[in-house]
Amino acid sequence: MVWSRCRRPRPSRPVLSYNVAALLRAAPGTSRSYPVDVPDLPIAEDLHLAAPIEGEVRLARTGRSILATADLSTAIEAHCNRCLRRVVAPVEVRIEEEALPSIDIDSGQPVDPRAEPDVLRLDANHELDLVQPVRDAISLAEPIVVLCRPDCRGLCPVCGSDLNDNPDHAHAEEEVDPRLAALADWRAEPDND
Ligand SMILES: [Zn+2]
Ligand SMILES: [Zn+2]
Repeated sequence: MVWSRCRRPRPSRPVLSYNVAALLRAAPGTSRSYPVDVPDLPIAEDLHLAAPIEGEVRLARTGRSILATADLSTAIEAHCNRCLRRVVAPVEVRIEEEALPSIDIDSGQPVDPRAEPDVLRLDANHELDLVQPVRDAISLAEPIVVLCRPDCRGLCPVCGSDLNDNPDHAHAEEEVDPRLAALADWRAEPDND
């Protein structure tokens, strides 16, 4: 990825929003693809993106709906579970979301949403908004265990200093937890090497 690339002027329309009025009038099976390049998107209070969201959204007309499929990649800011350093964790998500109209494309009449209250709906202008599905997918894709590197040494259990910076870091014996001291004695026995 080239970070110094020129900033292209962004279209003023909202990101991850697609007008599907024409697609609703097309024959079932018709599909369209759109490249995705979203510089940033608020995800959650404690979850921030560290890279643009890139990939592709495919919208397909089914007999009754629009089926949205997206393969997206980005990266999130996280903290190493051992040493708490800030790390960037790559994230890939796949979204499959069916969206039903809220206005009948032929008659212009509102569609009663009560039959399927939980399904994603197009708005009255036949706009499909994928922001929330993308947010949800990125939130769920957050890695459970994040390490800055596989052999991260973590923090000193006595004083909390970063053992990656000070591999030879040690405390005088009297400071050491008696349980750790017992282990140190055991390691010191020549037969135990
Ligand atoms: Zn670490
Ligand atoms: Zn220490």
